[in-house]
Amino acid sequence: LFVAVEGGDGAGKSGVIVALMRHLEARGVSALATREPGGTAEGEQLRALLLSGDGEAWDPRSELLLMTAARVQHVQHVIMPAVARGEVVVSDRFVGSTIAYQGAGRGLPLPLIRILHDQAVGGLLPDLTLVLDVDPRTGIARSRKRLDASAIDEARFEGLDLGFHDRVRSSFLDQAAQAPERHAVIDASLEPEAVQSAAIAAVDCLLA
Ligand code: C5P
Repeated sequence: LFVAVEGGDGAGKSGVIVALMRHLEARGVSALATREPGGTAEGEQLRALLLSGDGEAWDPRSELLLMTAARVQHVQHVIMPAVARGEVVVSDRFVGSTIAYQGAGRGLPLPLIRILHDQAVGGLLPDLTLVLDVDPRTGIARSRKRLDASAIDEARFEGLDLGFHDRVRSSFLDQAAQAPERHAVIDASLEPEAVQSAAIAAVDCLLA
């Protein structure tokens, strides 16, 4: 079983993945947590390269190609072998992020992203994608450790492209609406425990 966890910055992906892994272990299900970009030695090097710029350094097409290169290594050397062993693979981001960030966010055409994904990894899709949905203002405030999200207003995000983060959020929701059978949208504005329980319930449905 292959599960991806998607969402904007500060949506709580890391906490959800820790909770899911604990739950699966308690159920006696062998599971593997991994991430994109990354997940292999080569992929982690590409991740460091991608995240080292100021966000504007990479042309979006270069970004897409490097993300795809990292994904080929990840799918071939980590995801497929683990799925073949019967493990549950939980990936922090997968192609949903590419569609949301490089497509909706940075404006690359979706057909380009699709054809690359098809050619690079045979169009592999997760059996389930958990979309942790939260207003980017709340998510970004959280990821900056500002607890009083209600006090956040647009002015405090000066220099940050909120339009970009809004497009990313809408893309995740669109992807879920287009293929509801392989997505679960979770309200990530709730308390972490509630978000984690909802994620666990969605995965349990597939294991039952
Ligand atoms: O998942 P995580 O938050 O660690 O991702 C690191 C950064 O990479 C995030 O800020 C995210 O916005 C960015 N990213 C991206 N395009 C992707 C995946 C991640 O711009 N396809």
